[in-house]
Amino acid sequence: MNQPSSSSPASAADPRNRLAKVRIVLSNTSHPGNIGAAARAMKTMGLSRLFLINPKKYPDDEAVARAAGADDVLDMAVVCKTLDEALAGTVFSVALSARHRNLGPERSQARDTAPLILDKAGEGDVALVFGNETAGLSNADVQRCQRTVFIPADPEYSSLNLGAAVQVLCYELRLAAHGGRPTEVSRTVPFASPAATNDDIERFYVHLERIMVNTGFLDPNQPRRLMSKLRRLFGRVTLERDEINILRGILDAVEKNIPGKS
Ligand code: SAH
Repeated sequence: MNQPSSSSPASAADPRNRLAKVRIVLSNTSHPGNIGAAARAMKTMGLSRLFLINPKKYPDDEAVARAAGADDVLDMAVVCKTLDEALAGTVFSVALSARHRNLGPERSQARDTAPLILDKAGEGDVALVFGNETAGLSNADVQRCQRTVFIPADPEYSSLNLGAAVQVLCYELRLAAHGGRPTEVSRTVPFASPAATNDDIERFYVHLERIMVNTGFLDPNQPRRLMSKLRRLFGRVTLERDEINILRGILDAVEKNIPGKS
């Protein structure tokens, strides 16, 4: 069996190493699209270890299409014949099921259980086992796990799509691994200009007043309270030097086009 290495070189305290210990196990999946969706869900949350027990159609183009770039997760996926194989070497396993089972293992909500799953991932590999789209997990499969975890959906309609269920669990694990606040996605450096100085702003007002007079918009003999109102307007924002430069540039352009003034 082509099983990827589960050894992590760095400290087990690093949340990324904990997430790398989590196996997402999909049992008897019917639709390859859901396998791709699960791979994508995993990758977006920093998980990578996918196990497939008897997938009905796999490999399949639909899985690749729905993985939308998470091909590496699919490429590393381990295809097994039994739940035993998928759980080999794990120290903790969780069955995902919306349904309440008599005599099943202790049942808890996804959010409440995520910290426990990560704790166990500090000791070794852990598995989250998801059922088939129509039948879900068998009672025997559920009983092989130490916990049953459910997503607290609307009780009247509580069964999520398989890929969506994987997404929710991976998201909860990511939140738990990063103390509730994962680092934000930001590859761009936000634009920032230094604040305009008082001198910059005063020169702008002088310029603005001159243009308004020269264009005939402002009658210097009857200025009313126009400049006060404009000061109030620009005073509401913290003008940056870059913005003052733009405004001054506009005023320059207007000035050049005032007949007889250029
Ligand atoms: N009809 C099936 C559910 C199929 S959904 C049933 O009644 O069991 C496919 C899989 O997604 C489920 O086996 C389960 O692993 C997971 N899942 C869907 N909704 C869930 C929920 N609310 N809580 C936990 N797991 C859920």
